[in-house]
Amino acid sequence: MLTIFGTIALDTTRTPFHTVERTLGGTATFASISASNYVPTSLLGIVGHDFPAAYLELLKNRLDIRGLTISQTEKTFHYDSSFGYDLAKRTTNKTELNVIANYQSTIPDDYVDSEYVYLANNDPVQNMNILKLFSAPKLVICDTMDFWIVNKRDDVIKMIKKVDGIMLNETEAKLLFKENNILKCARLLASNGPAFAVINKGENGSLLFHNDEFFPIPAYPTEIIKDPTGAGDSFGGALMGYLSQQEKWDLKTLKNAMIHGNIMGSFAIEDYGVEKLANVNSEDIQKRNQKYKEILTF
Ligand code: AMP
Repeated sequence: MLTIFGTIALDTTRTPFHTVERTLGGTATFASISASNYVPTSLLGIVGHDFPAAYLELLKNRLDIRGLTISQTEKTFHYDSSFGYDLAKRTTNKTELNVIANYQSTIPDDYVDSEYVYLANNDPVQNMNILKLFSAPKLVICDTMDFWIVNKRDDVIKMIKKVDGIMLNETEAKLLFKENNILKCARLLASNGPAFAVINKGENGSLLFHNDEFFPIPAYPTEIIKDPTGAGDSFGGALMGYLSQQEKWDLKTLKNAMIHGNIMGSFAIEDYGVEKLANVNSEDIQKRNQKYKEILTF
């Protein structure tokens, strides 16, 4: 069983071309929708009384949401960000933690023996508290971002020491270690405990570090980019979903998981919020997987 913990958000995303307000987002949302293309996925997290019924329905239709708490007193986590014309660099305008701030870790009994746990970007202390509630997960992967690296760096490092794999983007990896070389960042990540580290470089692809070796992988070439929000989470969800489906994480499987991460990330950016991601089917995934084989063979 795969369980994913993280934020379920209402996002306001501003680009020079379009703005979407209070649309469905959040790290656990993107990651679990993405992962559900590979294995049945359970969502763990909290939303507020303002969470739209239509979004709840969308989640319910593809995920096990017994671990989703709905607060009757507080509002849903809200994230407001803007992108410039290159749609690459994001500026955070507002982070309203709301329900996240006082979340009390709890998991349904049926989730306790989850073999696969993905700790999507969230408060590292809450991530560690949630992790303690699982009996003996075989594989735990975590993600994090600038907000937590800046505000709770020591806890981020403590969290990294408790996982088997870590996934984060290039800027965050550099910020975490105050280091500008991503190969060094990958090495530093792994030296803190995880068996493998994945660094995402957006349109420049991604890097896997495993057993003292580096494996760079190009991004899927997509000509449509509307909203990069959630690309990293969709990547992480697919990576974890694929590893859970395969039930192994040797080098070959990890490389294939990276390909699937890139594929789902490429879908996520093609429309606003989860619009595209939630409408992808196995045939779409297969087609991009085949394309990757052509790209990587010469
Ligand atoms: P990314 O994959 O990095 O683009 O993640 C985007 C998602 O992260 C958005 O849908 C936000 O709701 C969510 N998010 C933004 N800030 C935070 C934060 N500090 N903690 C957890 N989730 C966040």
